[in-house]
Amino acid sequence: MSQSRKRYADASAEKIFPHKHCSTCSKIVPEFGDGYCSAQCRGYEKQKSSKDKRKWLTWIIVGVTIAFVFVLVLVLGNP
Ligand SMILES: [Zn+2]
Repeated sequence: MSQSRKRYADASAEKIFPHKHCSTCSKIVPEFGDGYCSAQCRGYEKQKSSKDKRKWLTWIIVGVTIAFVFVLVLVLGNP
């Protein structure tokens, strides 16, 4: 019985005001906001995207290093 009452409460909360869900934890947030429920969730999303950027940077550095070694081998191999 308490379970059905909880479900009813959730359903009514959905109807109280127009809303979105937090992009990080999918909590209900006001419709006219930036889509995050707290500064923590906002920071988490920023941290994730900067981590992705760092991964790309690592791959670029690896690629440049391989190209550099390849050119070096070509130059040193042909005196
Ligand atoms: Zn959140």
